[in-house]
Amino acid sequence: PVRVRFCPSPTGNPHVGLVRTALFNWAFARHHGGTLVFRIEDTDAARDSEESYEQLLDSMRWLGFDWDEGPEIGGPHAPYRQSQRMDLYKDVAHKLLDGGYAYYCYCSATELDARREAARAAGKPSGYDGHCRALTDEQIATYRTEDREPIVRFRMPDEAITFTDLVRGELTFTPENVPDYGIVRANGAPLYTLVNPVDDALMEITHVLRGEDLLSSTPRQIALYKALIELGVAKSVPAFGHLPYVMGEGNKKLSKRDPQSSLNLYRERGFLPEGLLNYLSLLGWSLSADQDVFSIDEMVAAFDIKDVVPNPARFDLKKCEAINADHIRRLDVKAFVEACGPWLKAPHAPWAPEDFDQTKWEAIAPYAQTRLTVLSDITQNVDFLFLNEPVEDEASWNKAMKEGSDALLRTARAKLETADWTSAESLKSAVLAAGEEHGLKLGKAQAPVRVAVTGRTVGLPLFESLEVLGKEKTLSRIDAALA
Ligand code: GLU
Repeated sequence: PVRVRFCPSPTGNPHVGLVRTALFNWAFARHHGGTLVFRIEDTDAARDSEESYEQLLDSMRWLGFDWDEGPEIGGPHAPYRQSQRMDLYKDVAHKLLDGGYAYYCYCSATELDARREAARAAGKPSGYDGHCRALTDEQIATYRTEDREPIVRFRMPDEAITFTDLVRGELTFTPENVPDYGIVRANGAPLYTLVNPVDDALMEITHVLRGEDLLSSTPRQIALYKALIELGVAKSVPAFGHLPYVMGEGNKKLSKRDPQSSLNLYRERGFLPEGLLNYLSLLGWSLSADQDVFSIDEMVAAFDIKDVVPNPARFDLKKCEAINADHIRRLDVKAFVEACGPWLKAPHAPWAPEDFDQTKWEAIAPYAQTRLTVLSDITQNVDFLFLNEPVEDEASWNKAMKEGSDALLRTARAKLETADWTSAESLKSAVLAAGEEHGLKLGKAQAPVRVAVTGRTVGLPLFESLEVLGKEKTLSRIDAALA
């Protein structure tokens, strides 16, 4: 059975790279009817925070992910927070030491630095040189009297490590490129290098799908896994697949600090979870050459890790927005009306709550649905309906109000007065006729009407907007503009 894991560290805000990793693991699990384990890698007390942990959970839920084992729901391998599993790691570290798979390393940071520099200068590999691999009892005794605090270092095998990456195919790492590495700090704190594969082993993970930035740790983990199998801690080595880098502006790796990478930003702007996930799935994968827009169910049905390509993917905000816009169009109107809810209330909405009118909102919603890129844009598209007066925007005003606009507005007002207010078509004919009297095409004739009534130069279809706003308010706003 397929068992995959999503195992973020609760540091800072969730970012899109993390979401893509979660998505691919989740889709892989669901596609295969497998199990998604959600594990929190919070062994770095200096960087992890409870706030970030809460945010992670909240983000996962907002995105619509579910997990089969993990925080809040538990499971057979609980607890799922590494900070609560320290005894397990200590136990495994001792087994590794006892079995000779790991050793105490007494080298000080200064000594390591000096030897690394020397190796570099000599053009030799500059990783750990194996100094403490085979210390004599005497040497150890001396180091102890010097009060050195040893770290625990894993002993890498002397042969090359080859594995078949699910995305990149066969990869080989030679010993000089994968030196012995630390697994427990001098103060006894276990490192990522230990706790991550130990938990993967204990939780019986079958497939590790994660970012390419972790590729260099894979040969180490495979070696550690082999030791764990010999010690009876692990059953088998999982398969690994490394997802391609995501590149941002200027073809640089999208970094956590990049504002475009913050998940919260997409939530605040009113991306639909489905739209965002659809776009993120395209960072390394595709459904087919000619279909960019699809539902999450379609993705799950089609998802195969073998279709993920190794070349870096470019994060393209414009495309992300366009795909989100498509998902907005795909909602049924009721769902759209509902999804906009938060942006029609404080703190987003500038109108008083009692001035909001659900009937008007539902009447205009279909026209907004075909135009929005992100849901947060709804506020300014409908504010003319709920504010007592249209927003004041001098630039828009000056742009739309030309010489002769007053005369046009007067004519338009007169014709609107006698139009049929149950028909947007009739309102359009009124403005069209007014325009004709002044030698203006419809586009030019409607601009001053729009700005007088809505305060803006662009917006939803004008005549439907007027119809929903109603005769009385429309005429009084034109009057105000003429005053
Ligand atoms: N906690 C690690 C991270 O967030 C997980 C890496 C992995 O998937 O192995 O980078």
